[in-house]
Amino acid sequence: DAYPLWYLPVAVLLYLLAHDTWFYWTHRLMHRPKWFRKMHAVHHASRPPTAWAAMSFHPWEAITGAVAIPALVFLIPIHVAMLGTVLLIMTVMGVTNHMGWEMFPRRLVHSKLGEWVITASHHQRHHEEYRCNYGLYFRFWDRACGTDRGLSPNA
Ligand SMILES: [Zn+2]
Ligand SMILES: [Zn+2]
Repeated sequence: DAYPLWYLPVAVLLYLLAHDTWFYWTHRLMHRPKWFRKMHAVHHASRPPTAWAAMSFHPWEAITGAVAIPALVFLIPIHVAMLGTVLLIMTVMGVTNHMGWEMFPRRLVHSKLGEWVITASHHQRHHEEYRCNYGLYFRFWDRACGTDRGLSPNA
């Protein structure tokens, strides 16, 4: 009862934004040639990606990815059910963004919301061209840093 009801979805959004920021910058670093070979090539090994690629990481990349959410628990208060929601969104989007086909309707993907949210057609392009579309949930950082090349026509 410590937090008002409106805080429940707000906490989820804060976690997604924070995780997205962490992911964007660590992901960009891992695309530097030296780090790529050491940490990130495993994730890009299946071409084109399949749903299994969502959880296919080198142990070092797995560690950088795994520390983010537990660390946030100490910084941003969240109800355990909302934490479960964050992990659910993380897992579902991770899997669906690597399936190679877009599960959301075209009019949603090409809507105003679609310009800011990442789905399969956006991440597919990252796996095709490597040096673009680094984000996890949102296109904010890609747009702000000029790394957003838009959607892949192949997903
Ligand atoms: Zn990927
Ligand atoms: Zn990558």
